[in-house]
Amino acid sequence: MQSVPVAGFADWRRAARALLATDADPATVRFTDGQQTDLFDASDVPASGRAVPAFSVPKEFLTLAELAALHRDPRRWDLLYRTLYRIVRGGERHLLQIEVDPDVRELMLLQKAVARDIHKMHAFVRFRKLEGESEQYVAWHRPDHHIVEHVAPWFARRFGAMCWAILTPDASVYWNRQALQFGPGLARSEAPAGDMLEDLWRSYYAGIFNPARVNVPAMMKDLPVRHWATLPEAALIPKLLQEATRREETMLRSKPPTAEPFLPPARDLPALARAVCACQGCDLYREATQAVFGEGPARARIMLVGEQPGDREDREGKPFVGPAGQLLDRALGEAGIDRSQVYVTNAVKHFRFEPRGKLRLHKKPGGAHVAACRPWLQAELEQVDPEIVVALGATAALSLGGREFAIQKERGKLLPIAGNRQLLVTVHPSFLLRLPEADRQAGFAQFVEDLRLAV
Ligand code: URA
Ligand code: SF4
Repeated sequence: MQSVPVAGFADWRRAARALLATDADPATVRFTDGQQTDLFDASDVPASGRAVPAFSVPKEFLTLAELAALHRDPRRWDLLYRTLYRIVRGGERHLLQIEVDPDVRELMLLQKAVARDIHKMHAFVRFRKLEGESEQYVAWHRPDHHIVEHVAPWFARRFGAMCWAILTPDASVYWNRQALQFGPGLARSEAPAGDMLEDLWRSYYAGIFNPARVNVPAMMKDLPVRHWATLPEAALIPKLLQEATRREETMLRSKPPTAEPFLPPARDLPALARAVCACQGCDLYREATQAVFGEGPARARIMLVGEQPGDREDREGKPFVGPAGQLLDRALGEAGIDRSQVYVTNAVKHFRFEPRGKLRLHKKPGGAHVAACRPWLQAELEQVDPEIVVALGATAALSLGGREFAIQKERGKLLPIAGNRQLLVTVHPSFLLRLPEADRQAGFAQFVEDLRLAV
């Protein structure tokens, strides 16, 4: 008895051709699922199209065999070879028309089961859009048979415009709007749900789709999907994730994040406001609800710049609408400044926070976030072209003045900055909200005093 491991239909076909060429009796051959050895060296087998084999296989058989081969039944390879042998060597050229033949009936059943499974996958795969990501989708599905590679092109055609992944126990497939990539499966126990699914997707996505980073470990690229199922997945997946994270870190270290590539060619305020929604210039877009762009007249003499949107601003999509915004409105009123005549924005457009139970606590953006987001502020400055820019607090001052400011020492003065503008540095209204009750009134009065310089 000859044992022949095969890793898929193409593999089986190559082996079957070689066996047929030597007239190997099906009763003496056992096919198994596994990696093909070099038993059938390519040089022994005429590659199709280059030489004519000594026999021809009816197309009808190949169509049937290709689907039946996707069945999970380990005996399918033997059945396929036996049938093929009977057609080619046994003089039963029209065997497939004899539906009552046990081999033919069995093959038909396999084919039908696979076809049903394919239909089911077309119908039941439900992509879940990932929150906060533009056009990224993921689905978990559990097909009965090895159909992932077969159905993937259908999904690529149907959902060509979005980036998606389908994860199954045997294999995973990823589409990046250009090409399909296959990866290992996830064991049922590892089937991710909810947030885990998102985390997993993000890591895979980071690893796979960003050409600047990785392609999934090169060693896996050429392996047929069937083999991945036999690899120790549990060990493999954390490794993949680790790899992706490490590469991400390396990239962050080597290239500072920036919003630059996300700025639109047209720089008018509505175009900028639309484009900022899709910004992924730094990692803050991941957790925030939305980008909060500036608001106000397209030309304004005064521009106010805060730090970053707060919890309320993040949910409403407008700057300074929460408690700090109310205090700001009051101060502007006392300073004789009409808010509707002022352009109001922030140094950083996405809300950075720390989850604390149900609350989202403000977290100061880092220097890298401020620098990454600066192109948006710069574009706003160019469009609005204000004479006076008011930096509310240290973060805005850093972004506008290009250095650290000692706010209490440097507040309340007009400083010349690039573009023929004057920079007025003052405190952030949230600072006033945090002052002890006894100091608040004086603090507020001084803030109003500073703002009056802008009038
Ligand atoms: N704090 C800011 O700096 N900006 C806002 O928009 C709201 C609060
Ligand atoms: Fe882009 Fe700024 Fe948001 Fe970062 S914070 S993603 S740079 S808009």
